[in-house]
Amino acid sequence: MRICDTIEDMRAACRAARRGGKRLGFVPTMGALHEGHLSLVRAARASCDAVAASIFVNPMQFGPNEDLAKYPRSFERDRELLEKEGVELLFAPSVEEMYPAGAVTWVTVEGLSSKLDGRSRPGHFRGVTTVVAKLFHIVEPDAAFFGQKDAAQVAIVRRMARDLNLPVEIVACPIVREPDGLAMSSRNAYLDPQQRKQALVLHRGLLQVKKSWEEGEREAGKLLTVGRDELSAEKSVRLDYLEIVDPDSLVPVENTAGGALVAVAAFVGLTRLIDNLVLPRSSH
Ligand code: AMP
Repeated sequence: MRICDTIEDMRAACRAARRGGKRLGFVPTMGALHEGHLSLVRAARASCDAVAASIFVNPMQFGPNEDLAKYPRSFERDRELLEKEGVELLFAPSVEEMYPAGAVTWVTVEGLSSKLDGRSRPGHFRGVTTVVAKLFHIVEPDAAFFGQKDAAQVAIVRRMARDLNLPVEIVACPIVREPDGLAMSSRNAYLDPQQRKQALVLHRGLLQVKKSWEEGEREAGKLLTVGRDELSAEKSVRLDYLEIVDPDSLVPVENTAGGALVAVAAFVGLTRLIDNLVLPRSSH
């Protein structure tokens, strides 16, 4: 695996990897890798001739009171994992390399960026779309792989790629969970054993919504009540939002018959966790 820490090197290496019409897949990450990230690498491997990944803790997507300084970093371990998965190219730039002094240009997906996490984390999605656009211009991938775990991010990156005619296919991969149902996240490392148990309520809340939906309930208001009841049972967990929205526009829906995204965010102690599930379009 070749490791590049400059934009120039990475761009040259990616161009060489694509030579002869080879399909290059790209997996952007912030490191502290787990099976969720590796599932994206495997999906990329399965449908591309070569795979590039990036590890970059992007300061532009963290708010002033968020966990940028303490975000877990484990470069050596991450490097080994990616190498084992057969990644050919790893981009691990410094903050100065990505954001030279005086950089003032942003990419913003208006509207969508202030929905869901964007409402609780102002500026977050602007930071995400800016760095992803930059990474796409450096790597020039044929396909880029994102986790459905960050469902709003997928919708926003898709919209950016469409609106800016970026020549990249955006592939969304399923949420990878721990055996007990907790969605894998680098931030799970912050949880103590008690919080780790409390965190399961996010998944339980979603499962209650799903159960009610399977029993025939389609009204979003009723489904939300079921979910909120379950979530409020865990007193130590502070709900940020539970919403039922259109998966593309992220606008709340009243009825889920046409398919919907059920998304939750909650604080377990100081750790903010997210999870979601998709309700398919129903035939009845
Ligand atoms: P991050 O390092 O948190 O920026 O995540 C990098 C990519 O991995 C994003 O596309 C995430 O959606 C994806 N990802 C993170 N956790 C999971 C998970 N549990 N299952 C699937 N994909 C995930």
